[in-house]
Amino acid sequence: MTIQPRKRFGQHFLRDESIIARIIDALSPKPSDNLIEIGGGRGALTFPLLQQAHALTVIELDRDLVLELETQKPPASRLVIHSADALQFDFATLKKDERLLRIFGNLPYNVTTPLIFHVLQYAPIIADMLFMVQKEVAMRLVAENRNKNYGRLSVMVQYHCQAELLFDVPPDAFYPPPKVTSSIVRLVPHNPYPDSAKNMHLLERLVKFAFSQRRKTLRNSLSIMMPKELWSHIPIDP
Ligand code: SAH
Repeated sequence: MTIQPRKRFGQHFLRDESIIARIIDALSPKPSDNLIEIGGGRGALTFPLLQQAHALTVIELDRDLVLELETQKPPASRLVIHSADALQFDFATLKKDERLLRIFGNLPYNVTTPLIFHVLQYAPIIADMLFMVQKEVAMRLVAENRNKNYGRLSVMVQYHCQAELLFDVPPDAFYPPPKVTSSIVRLVPHNPYPDSAKNMHLLERLVKFAFSQRRKTLRNSLSIMMPKELWSHIPIDP
């Protein structure tokens, strides 16, 4: 039985062999890597990767696809499939030895941002991440200060990681094709962090408010957290 791709799970399966090869090349897995895939789907990346990597863990939400992956999995392969929601998943349970996690996936576009925020909580135990995202999101992930795409996502991701856009992927590389161009991005957690917040929760709130109203001055956007008189005492233009 072939299952129809499900829109609500953001399913766009990779079908272009040359793109799949480029992604695997960008990952360049070593047999000893602790590889984790978010959203295995029909295994477009999973199965070719298994040939190079010793072991692989997949987190897949769609139970029918979990079943399909279990059935297709080569005998004796070291593929562990978690039938679970990656948004709720405790990635710390996958760190079983000294090896840091290498997380990758052609992400479901409807939950890309919350997924990246969720995974970033585990940044200290992650070696790197390689994600397929919408190009528009990729531009925000890598945007630098003064670029029009620079915002909350850029600041928070770049607080934890070095972000790099590797290459674009056209819609026809997928079935069904998405409406937008996609990009492969690499996120590498800083080690050590160049700047570290004393209070992470406060940083998150500050960034959220700072970018919540684009046309407002910082003085106004942050008035909820910060008395206006304070601005005259700090070297920042409000
Ligand atoms: N890696 C496959 C599938 C990509 S499509 C390929 O490239 O062909 C995105 C996949 O993520 C789908 O299999 C979808 O079922 C799965 N998915 C969607 N939401 C998810 C979630 N919250 N947690 C884990 N997997 C999810």
